Amino acid sequence: MAKNLIVGAGFSGAVLANKIVTELNEEVLIIDVKPHVGGNCYDYWDKNGICVHKYGTHIFHTNLKNVWDYVSQFTKWYPYRHHVKGYIDGQEVPIPFNINSIHKIFPKSIADKLEQKLIEKFGFNVKVPILKLRGSGDKDLEFLADYVYDKVFLHYTLKQWGMKPEDLDPAVTGRVPVYISKDDRYFQDTYQGIPMEGYTKLIEKMLAHPKIQVKLNTNFQEIKDKVKYDRIFYTGPIDEFFNYELGELPYRSLEFDFVEFNKPYFQSNSVINYPNNYTFTRIGEYKYFLDNQSDKTVVSFEYPQAFKRGKNDRYYPIVKQENLALYNRYLEKAKQTPNVYFLGRLGDYKYYDMDKAVARALELFESIKK
Ligand SMILES: Cc1cc2nc3c(=O)[nH]c(=O)nc-3n(C[C@H](O)[C@H](O)[C@H](O)COP(=O)(O)OP(=O)(O)OC[C@H]3O[C@@H](n4cnc5c(N)ncnc54)[C@H](O)[C@@H]3O)c2cc1C
Repeated sequence: MAKNLIVGAGFSGAVLANKIVTELNEEVLIIDVKPHVGGNCYDYWDKNGICVHKYGTHIFHTNLKNVWDYVSQFTKWYPYRHHVKGYIDGQEVPIPFNINSIHKIFPKSIADKLEQKLIEKFGFNVKVPILKLRGSGDKDLEFLADYVYDKVFLHYTLKQWGMKPEDLDPAVTGRVPVYISKDDRYFQDTYQGIPMEGYTKLIEKMLAHPKIQVKLNTNFQEIKDKVKYDRIFYTGPIDEFFNYELGELPYRSLEFDFVEFNKPYFQSNSVINYPNNYTFTRIGEYKYFLDNQSDKTVVSFEYPQAFKRGKNDRYYPIVKQENLALYNRYLEKAKQTPNVYFLGRLGDYKYYDMDKAVARALELFESIKK
């Protein structure tokens, strides 16, 4: 019987492990360097009964029915709808910037005019990239585009990425939208929610099978010469697998400063972005996700920083042509490495939302099943 080693017990690794044992009836050893399963989605219940996401706020949302159905085998969902507010010019306004945001920020006469012009030119319930507003030939809409660029995007980007928007892939800048709508939800996906018992429990259920062995605190680098497997599924960093021989793939990292407050709520919403003031980019307040009841509350202040190996964790791949070119060179090497499959946000050097990480793992499983 084939033996499978899966490196990484995040969503990607857990989905593969579950599919391999349930559909192929093969054995799986899944290892993780961390002391817990769940990868970046790991959460825990604190002493006040609040479910805290250790690596930043995570909201499950998808339009992929097969992904939703698959993940729903392992959890019930709390029907949470995500809203993000941005602290802009002293006001908390809906993000993405929409018609309600316009009315919160500008005097009524100006807001009415902007609303009318947006709807006339682009219609209702559409997301218009600010690049398009800038090229609209209308002075008022160009003013709006500049306002959103400056107050919502520019300084946030400087903090988040440590570089100017023009130094990132132009696709990122061009996509910043104004949402011509009064729908304040951050996601419009068909399926949305938070696992009722948390993400860690969900992943534990995926891995609860007699043919799956989980080994935590285990680094692939330290065991790779001692173990023999028919197939390896690697959800760790692809450059690390190849000992960085072509160079290091750059990432952006984050530091979370968790603070408990002795009051029921700290802020008016689960996530508030601070594009322009302060050195943190956002504050997440965790009790909102499952409506945990407590006299206390816990929040995290999120500070972006450079990724340094051995010092902090990889969070976001930095989307730049030269980095993607380097990744493609690793990909070529990967193709020449038999029986090793790379996947996940670190293996594919790609930002995946959870649903996309699950979809990728399901697709990879279908391809090896044949
Ligand atoms: C701040 C932040 C917020 C996010 N919010 C959302 C959200 O709201 N909604 C959403 O859908 N998605 C969100 N995401 C994305 C989500 O975190 C990813 O989709 C998900 O973590 C991908 O799972 P994965 O298994 O591919 O990677 P990971 O969860 O990173 O799992 C990889 C695992 O491999 C392990 N590993 C690495 N190297 C080794 C090694 N050498 N040996 C052993 N183990 C190793 C790691 O410890 C890790 O546990 C967010 C991401 C970030 C960074």
